[in-house]
Amino acid sequence: MGMFDTFWGTYTCPCCNREVKFEEQTKEYENVLADFLLGDYIDKGNRNYFYDFIYECPYCDMSSELSIAVRNGQYVGVYYTEEAKKIDIMKLRNIEDGYQRNRDYDKLCIEKLGKDDAGYIEGELVGKNVGDTLTILRTDWKVLDVFKEELSDEFNDEEKRTWKMFFYRPSFIYRVKADGVYRIIAERKHHFGSSHYFYVYEDDFDQLNLKEYYDEKNIHRYKIQDGCTLVAVNVNLYFVRDSFCMADDCLAPNMAIYKWTENSDFSDLERMIFEYFYDGLPRFRWGGYIKGELIMEFSYIKEDDGGLKKELKMLVPEWKELLSENPCIYFEHIELNGLMLPKKLTNFYDYAEAIRLCKKRGKSGFPK
Ligand SMILES: [Zn+2]
Repeated sequence: MGMFDTFWGTYTCPCCNREVKFEEQTKEYENVLADFLLGDYIDKGNRNYFYDFIYECPYCDMSSELSIAVRNGQYVGVYYTEEAKKIDIMKLRNIEDGYQRNRDYDKLCIEKLGKDDAGYIEGELVGKNVGDTLTILRTDWKVLDVFKEELSDEFNDEEKRTWKMFFYRPSFIYRVKADGVYRIIAERKHHFGSSHYFYVYEDDFDQLNLKEYYDEKNIHRYKIQDGCTLVAVNVNLYFVRDSFCMADDCLAPNMAIYKWTENSDFSDLERMIFEYFYDGLPRFRWGGYIKGELIMEFSYIKEDDGGLKKELKMLVPEWKELLSENPCIYFEHIELNGLMLPKKLTNFYDYAEAIRLCKKRGKSGFPK
């Protein structure tokens, strides 16, 4: 098998003077695709020696002869071979165990972005709840929203499902906050193992529904797992409508925040919408949009006895999935004179926009 291990490190190219990150593949060890970083104990034999190799500078193509010092089995330094020849390896000192890994981790903790191992767990992954504290990258995060990634129905197809299942990792997606910093955290567990980790992403929900999105320049953007749909477990559901008269509370747009959980259904939604369109509002017919798509109609209907009946009608059968992925409904009204609502809007508020508004204005000032 063509397996190997890899030394990682840096040196300064003597020709162009640039700092070069090297990636030296070696077959001298156990060949298990292990990564060797400065400070790692790599040689179980506890030996002392220099590992020599030649590396070509990616900037100027100049080859350098380099030597990695291994002291008591630990990777303790990188030298030019010329220099290494004059060093008595027995005089080199051991350094902090996992030196480079620790520095890399420090950096992630400062940026509050990147991967944090969570060790191993047995059994099923159980998500956190809204309000829980998650300590990741040395930060205590407060959980604001909880989603999970589920394999899409299309993969119920036996043949497709087999290989998708192989790669699928049970995952919870949290929106979190700590000291004014917002992030998205993915908690994932291997489907066929017990390794378990967290990945902290930028709070960029614009990326949420772009399933095919891949951009290696933006590695800190959340991207939904291949073949999955996002399901709201316990999230803030945002209702937004534009202010349209002085009887309204003059906040433009009008926003209210409700709770939506996995178990919420049509009657919950109906109750929330009736509350949001309280009786003091003028009688209009409204359309409810998710990401600009018309999914529901809400109207006040005049009954024979002169009374008014509120009616909510869903126009799209998969409304729950759409709402789960993008828990924000934007309402647009038209007068009750036979005008039809457009099926699509180009100007609308979606979840990402609702979050931005909340950050800007705080929770106060929103009618609930
Ligand atoms: Zn160079």
